[in-house]
Amino acid sequence: MKSKQYQIPLEQAYKLANDFFETIDSTPVGSMKSHEELLALWDQELSITGMDPEQIIIEMDKSARPGLHLNQSGRFFSWVIGGSHPSGVAADWLTSAWDQNAGMFTVAPAASIAEEIAGRWLKKILKLPHDASFAFVTGCQMAHFTCLSAARNHLFHEAGWDIEAKGFFGAPRIRVICGDQKHSTINRAMRMLGFGTDILTDIPSDEHGRINVVAFEKELMKEPDVPTLVLLQAGDLNTGVYDDFKTIIPLAHKINAWVHVDGAFGLWASASDSLSHFTEGVEAADSWATDGHKWLNVPYDCGYAFTAHPEAHYRSMSQQASYVFGDQTARDPMYWNPEFSRRARGFATYAVIKELGTRGIEELIDRTCRHAHSIVKQAGQLPNTEVISIPIINQGLIRFLDPNSTNEKDHAAFTEKIILAINETGEAFFQPVTFKGKRCMRVSVSGWRTNDEDVRRTVEAIRLVLVSSVVS
Ligand SMILES: *Cc1c(COP(=O)(O)O)cnc(C)c1O
Repeated sequence: MKSKQYQIPLEQAYKLANDFFETIDSTPVGSMKSHEELLALWDQELSITGMDPEQIIIEMDKSARPGLHLNQSGRFFSWVIGGSHPSGVAADWLTSAWDQNAGMFTVAPAASIAEEIAGRWLKKILKLPHDASFAFVTGCQMAHFTCLSAARNHLFHEAGWDIEAKGFFGAPRIRVICGDQKHSTINRAMRMLGFGTDILTDIPSDEHGRINVVAFEKELMKEPDVPTLVLLQAGDLNTGVYDDFKTIIPLAHKINAWVHVDGAFGLWASASDSLSHFTEGVEAADSWATDGHKWLNVPYDCGYAFTAHPEAHYRSMSQQASYVFGDQTARDPMYWNPEFSRRARGFATYAVIKELGTRGIEELIDRTCRHAHSIVKQAGQLPNTEVISIPIINQGLIRFLDPNSTNEKDHAAFTEKIILAINETGEAFFQPVTFKGKRCMRVSVSGWRTNDEDVRRTVEAIRLVLVSSVVS
């Protein structure tokens, strides 16, 4: 190896990353560049002779910056996306340097142990059963996939059908009951697992997005003898509301249904004393999917799957190849994960949990909720603004009303126009969303950096845009 072969590009990356972090507060939060403009920066001749690593890093940074949305900023409120804590970024760098294939203890001993411990900690933080099985996956989408493949195994196993060997052809019927506000990743997980989406029976939700319990029970009791999968939500994407776990889970368990909970971000309410009433009863579910890369602010990609049925989880994911053999005592991630070879995701989670401690995590959850509430409340008092959903956790909705119209379509267009104008100021970054037929601006505060000054700057930016748009 040549001397400094790694040192030179790594030091360059360090310098550029540092500059990126140092300039966040003075850089526009959202990238406004078009696809064409970005293509022009990246679309170069495919190299024949290769290139010096340091030069690549310098060029890549230059090409990437104009196309970066700063979700690391304290004024990024689009989608449910966090930033990364410092220890998470640093641990992620080391993860790349070590480049472990974290499928098995035998192949990557330290990576397997870091996951084992971080998984144990997560169960404590989220108040899940201590003996729940778990998997570190790419995100909540794949956490659904993992949990629901365990559910699929369990339900068919109970019905005397070996789904892993026989597949769906000739299998007994099962049914799936869920809320009409479920996240789109549920549909994809159902498709990938071979269930398809026609199997989903939607229960209508109330005006906030919670499953109507009476309608749920009625549907559940229609065919109590058919094996049943129930899909609930902890934290609606738009309003942050929670399904009524305390009532629904015991009902579902009366007929031996498997209850899966989408808690992509909302499950983290369990980590806060002042919010844990929202998740009361959720620990009785059969599986839970959540994310590290959203509210915990671990670098992408990082999701977590948990199940209360380790045997079904293991049956659905384990695999054998002649050239691998498991250490009998160690935890082999491969037997719990959909992937074979995989990145050592546990290190970053381990680091961030250590950085914050349980108190720091609680503080992060409470703080982001407080800021979301302040933004919606203060912006809601501006002219031509209507609060559609005041945050009960970190998600809220407002919309902007066209002063020259009473028409819904005009309000929707006006809302989109205002959002675009706010984003163009570079002061904050929002996205529109349609909730129950109304076009809204979603306020999602998921990043750890958001502080009082960010809230002030954001509300002021919204105010200025509204003033000039109403005048013009
Ligand atoms: C973000 C989200 C998902 C999907 O999570 P990914 O990590 O993007 O795969 C699922 N459900 C809800 C409620 C979400 O907010």
